[in-house]
Order: sequence, then structure tokens, then C-alpha cells
Amino acid sequence: MADRSPLSPDRLEERFEDYKPLYTQGEAIAEANRCLYCVDAPCIQGCPTAIDIPSFIRKIATGNHKGAARTILSANILGYSCARVCPVEVLCAGACVYNAWERPPIQIGRLQRFATESILRDGVPLFSRKPATGRKVALVGAGPASLSAAALLALEGHAATILERRSIPGGLNSLGIAPYKFHADDALFEIEWVKSFGVEVRTGTAVGEGPGAVSPERLLAEYDGVFLGLGLGADSTLGIPGEEGPGVVGAVELIARIKGQAGFRLDGVAQALVVGGGNTAIDAAHELRLLGVPLVAMVYRRSEAEMKGYGHEMDHARRDGVVLLENRVPMAILRAPDGRVRSLRVTTAKEGNPIPGTDERIPTDLIAVAIGQSRATAIAKSFPGVEVDAKGRIVVDPATHRTGNPRVWSGGDCVNGGKEVVNAVAEAKVAVRDMLAFLGTGSPRPSG
Ligand SMILES: Cc1cc2nc3c(=O)[nH]c(=O)nc-3n(C[C@H](O)[C@H](O)[C@H](O)COP(=O)(O)OP(=O)(O)OC[C@H]3O[C@@H](n4cnc5c(N)ncnc54)[C@H](O)[C@@H]3O)c2cc1C
Ligand code: SF4
Repeated sequence: MADRSPLSPDRLEERFEDYKPLYTQGEAIAEANRCLYCVDAPCIQGCPTAIDIPSFIRKIATGNHKGAARTILSANILGYSCARVCPVEVLCAGACVYNAWERPPIQIGRLQRFATESILRDGVPLFSRKPATGRKVALVGAGPASLSAAALLALEGHAATILERRSIPGGLNSLGIAPYKFHADDALFEIEWVKSFGVEVRTGTAVGEGPGAVSPERLLAEYDGVFLGLGLGADSTLGIPGEEGPGVVGAVELIARIKGQAGFRLDGVAQALVVGGGNTAIDAAHELRLLGVPLVAMVYRRSEAEMKGYGHEMDHARRDGVVLLENRVPMAILRAPDGRVRSLRVTTAKEGNPIPGTDERIPTDLIAVAIGQSRATAIAKSFPGVEVDAKGRIVVDPATHRTGNPRVWSGGDCVNGGKEVVNAVAEAKVAVRDMLAFLGTGSPRPSG
């Protein structure tokens, strides 16, 4: 199943260890036996892909690992990565009845990892492909949205071709997820599994108008349908003096270098600041700290209570030494005569608004900006009939995920504005159901 990996050795990501290692068989069975197999199973309601959680846990408890993996992957074809990357604390495990008794919830993510990893790594066949239909679908972007849609289409016998502009497929699942949860080579392993259904992944192939890019017109002419899984665009910038130049980087870009760039180093960085209060800010700060940067602080314009990032992730980062500076607004980046970053000038803020005369300078060598990402509006709008809303999100019919063009569907971050991997999978499932009706076949298998 393995192709030659596009990942180079000597990446900083390799220094990170799993913070939730794979269960042993004994651990998995002991944890599975804690499950009460609730009839109304609130954990299922907490899963955007509605995995039958009590059913797969019972199968683990009875030693039926293949059955457990099939239950998971039938509902969520990327259940292998979701087991590792899902914020279960606010999804399935957050809904587990044990929480009401102030007892630890069932470790659903770790059980899901146990079931899927043992079966996929052993190459146990789970699903077979239907005979070829002769229908062809192009999927733009090789992130979780396109990968899950392509897998489901391929199992139905359709030719599914993914076009990805980067040399490393997987989108943020490869190059964004915190490396203490999931490594890029784990994401690539899962992509090889998806490719084993017949999905073709063409990397280094951008769709758009530029030189060498495949035009939307060509895709619409050559394929029966198109799925847009474009994700989000580049990191947003602060727009303050001193921002241009070395030592200031977008947080998503920084994480991509940590995960994917051979030889990337943080040598000489003694103090780092991460601007923002969302999950990307927490991840970037946590990763810098775990990579040995002695002082790492997050600078957030509002109070901790107003942060968008998950409380459990902030607690975890804080335990590893990340400091949070709340109620501070960045005003300017100050540099030495040789151009190196020296400090960030901030002003104390009340409800996000600067209070004049409260400036302070925070010394730093590196500033990572995590205040959001731009939207992939230009490429989306170059498909006739496809519209974006005022926030730059692709407009779809929520019941079908079809855009204003009857042969173009979309899902994932470019539609929802930036959620989780599991949401991208759930939206792809909705789109595929409608695509199959359009292409002339029934419901998708695995259907869940
Ligand atoms: C730092 C960070 C950490 C995260 N951590 C988690 C986490 O722990 N758990 C979790 O569930 N979610 C996490 N997320 C969110 C999750 O990664 C995304 O929701 C998910 O990857 C969205 O999938 P997608 O397929 O919509 O987009 P993406 O993963 O962004 O994939 C889109 C792909 O499309 C490609 N593309 C774009 N335009 C073109 C074009 N014109 N031609 C060809 N290819 C193109 C891009 O290169 C990219 O590979 C994180 C996000 C970030 C930024
Ligand atoms: S809510 Fe908790 S105990 Fe009940 S079925 Fe789900 S995982 Fe098991």
C-alpha cells in the first residue's frame, strides 16, 4: 500500500511524541468494558458523522476488532485520523454520561484509534469497490473533505481524481494538526489506504487561472462532476508597523514548516510570542514550547473567558509552560538596526479596545500571527455559478452541498469557514449522497 513518501527526513515534527499513545489490547478491553452501552447513547449525538460508538466499543470488548473498525469507517471513512485529531472532549466524550457523575468519560478517541489502527496497519480488507461506472469526478484539494468524498465515490465505482497544488497531500491533516496528536506520515498512511480504493491523487497540480494550473473550464469539460475541497487561504496579517520582514510568520505557515520542511530550525529563538486566542494560536504556542523555546507567551486582545480556543487545549499548553497575556492589543513590531525582531509593542485593552497610554514592550525573537486565515474566494468564483458569501465561504445547499453550479459540490473549511476534520468528512458525506444521485447510482457505501 505504500508509495514513496513525499516527506523528507529531518523535520522538527519527528521530535514530538504521541500524547495519547496506542492502547495495548488489555488497556483497550479494560476501557471498553467501562462503557454502559447506553440505549439513547448521547455520545453518538456528539459525533458529526454519527458513528455507532457503543456498537464499536462492544465489538472491541468481545475481540471483534475488524467489526469495530468496519462500524467506525462505515460512518466516517477517515475514522483513522479522526480517532487521533478529533476534539473528543467537546464532541463524543464530552457527551458521555460519565461526565454527569463527574467521572472520566469513556476514552472514545483512544478506543477508535485502537480499532482502526490495528486493522489498517495489518492491511485487513474491509470494503470492496463496485465495478467501474465510467463516470468521472475531479476533486480540488487533497484535504480531508476531498479525500473522504473521493473514497466514497471510488467505492461506488466512479473514477475519482484529486488535484492538489502542494507536493504533500492531506491538507491541514498532514501539515496543520499538532504533531503530538498526529504526524504527517500518519496522514499519508491513511491517504495510501484511500488510494487503495482506486482514488488517484495528483500532487503539484493547482486548479485555477495561473500558468501551469488546470482551468475550471477544463475540469468541467473533462469530468462529470467537480468537488471543491479548497480549505482556507493564507494566514491573515496584523497590519501594524514592523510586521514585514524576518521573525514574523503566520502561525499556520509556521506549523507547516515544523511538520513538513526538512532542516527547519528554531535555533537562537529564546522568546516567542503568538498573537491570537484560537486553537491555532494555542497549538503554535504549545509546539514552540515543546520544541524547547524557553519563553513562549500568547498575546490575546480579550480575556481568557472570551477565547475561541478550547479550554482543555489551553490547560494542556499551560501545563507545558505556555503563558497567556490577556487583554493586550499589538500596536507595532520593533526591530534592531539589522532587521531582527526585538519586541512587540502592545497596549492594554478593555473588551478588545486599546486603552491609550498603557503601552508596554514585550521582548521577543519570533512572532507567530494566529488571527485567522483568508478565504479561497477567487478560485471558487472562477467556477461558473459558484458563489461565496460575505465571509468568503462557498455557498451550498446544506441538504446536498451542491453549489450554484449543478455539477459542482463543495465541503469542508471552504464552506464552513474553518471547523474540524470530522466536519469536513460529514459535509463530504452529504455531498456524495447527492453526487451519487446525480451520477446515477444509489446511496454511498459505506453509509453508516
Ligand atoms: C493549525 C491547525 C490545527 C488544527 N488542528 C485540528 C485538530 O486537532 N483536529 C481537527 O479535527 N481539526 C483541526 N484543524 C482543522 C482541520 O485541519 C480542518 O478543518 C480540515 O483539515 C479541513 O479539511 P479541508 O479538506 O476542508 O481543507 P484543508 O485541510 O485545508 O485542505 C485543502 C487542500 O486544498 C488544497 N488547495 C487549495 N486550493 C487549491 C487549488 N486551487 N488547486 C489545488 N489544490 C488546492 C490545499 O493545498 C489543501 O491541501 C486544525 C486546523 C489548523 C489550521
Ligand atoms: S455515553 Fe459513554 S457510556 Fe454511554 S454508550 Fe456512549 S461512551 Fe458508552
